Amino acid sequence: MENIVVLGSTGSIGSNTLDILKRSHKYKLLGLSFNKNIDLAIEQIKEFKPAYVCCAEGCYADIIKNKFDNITVLSGEEGLCEIASLDDADCVVNALVGTSGLLPTYFAIKNKKRFALANKESLVIAGHLFYEMAKKNSVEIIPIDSEHSAIYQCLENRNRDDVSSIILTASGGPFLNRKDFNNISVEDALVHPNWSMGKKITIDSATLMNKGFEIIEARWLFDMTYDKINVLIHKESVVHSAVEFIDGSILAQLGVADMRIPISYALFKPHRLKLDLKLSLSEIGHLSFEKPNFNMFPTLNFAYDALKKEDKNLGLILNAADEVAVDYFVAHKIKFKSIFDILKYALDNFEDNLSDNIYEIAQETAIIEREIKNLIEKDFLEA
Ligand code: NDP
Ligand code: MG
Repeated sequence: MENIVVLGSTGSIGSNTLDILKRSHKYKLLGLSFNKNIDLAIEQIKEFKPAYVCCAEGCYADIIKNKFDNITVLSGEEGLCEIASLDDADCVVNALVGTSGLLPTYFAIKNKKRFALANKESLVIAGHLFYEMAKKNSVEIIPIDSEHSAIYQCLENRNRDDVSSIILTASGGPFLNRKDFNNISVEDALVHPNWSMGKKITIDSATLMNKGFEIIEARWLFDMTYDKINVLIHKESVVHSAVEFIDGSILAQLGVADMRIPISYALFKPHRLKLDLKLSLSEIGHLSFEKPNFNMFPTLNFAYDALKKEDKNLGLILNAADEVAVDYFVAHKIKFKSIFDILKYALDNFEDNLSDNIYEIAQETAIIEREIKNLIEKDFLEA
């Protein structure tokens, strides 16, 4: 058996990952981390008996220590870095949300773990650094994000010179055909037509910032320049993404919209785990594809613009602004459409130089987040 650590085990990707672990004897859960959902964490600890638990929110550490013997309890950001670095861990899954995933990604790659990544924000903030580190340490960053898993599968054993572009598909989210973004409630934005996910990525899917982040994620995972990364709206979420070759052929990966498929591929590749997730093409009948509306969803251009400025790290700015703006929106403090204005303001007014020091990057992220908070408090709060 191989030892695996799942960071963010109580989240949507994290609990799907544990579900996958139950279905085979390949892995033993060595460690897990959670933030606030202590009830689910306790259930998971009872069921999987990990040797290490990290309580990101340190206040829960004593409860876990008192409840379980023989568990090493870690806490806070330091604990997350430690659990991502454990000598006994063969594989690390990063299913943390937002900037909290940044430092654990660094330590998993630094310590040469087999590394499955759901936390796309790591690559949006510091893709240039992780790309170089992974190459130097011979670590493969295995994508869990469904689009990138699809592309990864289509690229396997292919000659990269034969690839002309990649096509990221996007469901378009709940507001695909809206003519304006007035009067959108948090509840409206939290209903995704096809996928069940955590709150942050669901809101990002409604603004299409998620797809923008995926453009940046693809740039670093597959070493593709921005001009070779295209986005296509595909409402049905059946084709998870595709690769176009120089002879005009397109290879795609299809499946039902269930994250257990890309998670299991990341953990079992090149083999496949038997799952009861059959896709019936005859029931689906037909599939549709259309170009995205860049005017309604400028978030896609924000991502391309960020990648065009190669001497700057605008991914960091975009991620920091989005994280704060989404928090405020979910707390009912700003309008949905303000998210676009805040992102645009951040891109126009902040710049970050490309640092390859992870602590400088983390510090800069915190500074930008603070400045965005001030900006929102000053100019964007709802009466
Ligand atoms: P969730 O919000 O469902 O889960 C996030 C996990 O991280 C939870 O375990 C949560 O703990 C923990 N967490 C939250 N905040 C912090 C913090 N500040 N410090 C440490 N841990 C924290 O997110 P998802 O599972 O939806 O997404 C996880 C990542 O995967 C994201 O980067 C997302 O973009 C990516 N992704 C998700 C997909 C999906 O289908 N959900 C699809 C593709 C990519 P707790 O629950 O205990 O509070
Ligand atoms: Mg995705």
